[in-house]
Amino acid sequence: MNYILSNYSPNALYRYFEEICAIPHGSGNEKGIADYFCKFAEDNNLEYYRDNVHNVLIKKNASVGYENKPAVLLQGHSDMVCEKNNDVIHNFETDSLKIYEKDGWLYAEGTTLGGDDGIAVVMMMAVLADKNAKHPPLECLFTVQEETSMVGATSFDYSRLSAKSFINLDCEHLDRATVSCAGGVRCNFSFELDSYKVQNSSVKITVKGLAGGHSGMDINSGKQNAIIVMAKILGGLYEKMPFNLISVNGGNKVNAIPRECEAVINIFDKKYAKEVISSLADKIRKQLVKEDKKFSVRVDNANGISDTAFCFKDTYRVISALNIIPNGVYEMSRSLEGLVETSSNLGVVSTENNIVNMYLMPRSSVEAKLDEIVMKLDMIAKLVGAKIVHDDRYPGWEYAPKSKMRDLYEQCFEKRMGSKPIFEAVHAGVECGIIITAMGGELDGVSVGANVNNIHTPDECLELSSLADAYAIMLDMLETL
Ligand SMILES: [Zn+2]
Repeated sequence: MNYILSNYSPNALYRYFEEICAIPHGSGNEKGIADYFCKFAEDNNLEYYRDNVHNVLIKKNASVGYENKPAVLLQGHSDMVCEKNNDVIHNFETDSLKIYEKDGWLYAEGTTLGGDDGIAVVMMMAVLADKNAKHPPLECLFTVQEETSMVGATSFDYSRLSAKSFINLDCEHLDRATVSCAGGVRCNFSFELDSYKVQNSSVKITVKGLAGGHSGMDINSGKQNAIIVMAKILGGLYEKMPFNLISVNGGNKVNAIPRECEAVINIFDKKYAKEVISSLADKIRKQLVKEDKKFSVRVDNANGISDTAFCFKDTYRVISALNIIPNGVYEMSRSLEGLVETSSNLGVVSTENNIVNMYLMPRSSVEAKLDEIVMKLDMIAKLVGAKIVHDDRYPGWEYAPKSKMRDLYEQCFEKRMGSKPIFEAVHAGVECGIIITAMGGELDGVSVGANVNNIHTPDECLELSSLADAYAIMLDMLETL
């Protein structure tokens, strides 16, 4: 292999990075990189375990003088997001990434680089191979499919670990460490409705032009949810003049804030409906943040679009549910300023024949709060006569008021960088929540990393010097523990 980063040190760190770039390792395609980890463990006489999804655990004994200390878990994910520019020919199943360096940053030509989370992989490998590093017993876990299903973290057999502290290496900023994340669950409301032959005129209402965003990270941004906007319009109109709903469709992902929503209704006085909708739209427009300024509401004739519509009672059940389902910020954290602790996002509504489905995703960093909001949803479902199903629940990582690992990171970071790091909580799911919960909730941890910009895009790049800094800080933490 032709190495292009040989002038960077510590050499092993960069050499491993180049080696993993040569092995395709998109989510679900981790067999090759797992083979590489196992060969690495054998070459270094290290104990290892590989499970059937290709998670790999490599253990290393404590260095001299550290034998009586409890083990430390180091962890990151071995998979990467596979994105490329349209004009680039690249097969993520078989081709090596074509990496190049520019002004101290590493890129891959026209594709994602996999700095997320290659930095974790190489930091773990470098300390495992380093005969001079000082540290307690190490348990290094390389998980799979973090970018898709998190099945690696959820299915791993944690009885193989004994660690009492934890360093997750999946952060994209050197000076910002993550110390809490949200858990979540997918909920599906399903209505079976009665239809009748239409008698009046049909109109289609279209809400569009909203900015949308991530259902967790952007939930406190003030950006409006197109389905909720539609709910207000339908609710407001029904109060003035009841109508029969024909269909309502909006959003396409449960974990995104919907940008558009469409409803078709059958109503006695079309002209009056238009006036009411227009005045409701004006009220909504006044409350919008600047990102949502392209907001528009259209009303079009839709006669002939359907012979049937839902009865008044069923129409009212659906629009009531859309209006009362918790959406947006539910509660802010009292331990970390500015952090959304609990939220919910109504991400998708769809109508197929006489079935209306609503998909939503509540999140919370506090398990009991997630239980609370799920119970509320169950009760709402009962009241409006919908079936509710919950799926794929994963736990959060509650902010620990006291944390030795957090203090240690701050101390080692300050020693190397001359400033203090920022501690952040993310209102989204990361593997830490799953791992800490699976280990009994007692694991004291921090999530750290190097500077990786534009992750999940073909412009992804890694600041090479920040990787050496992140590694030095991690070694210092292990030595000080
Ligand atoms: Zn990642």
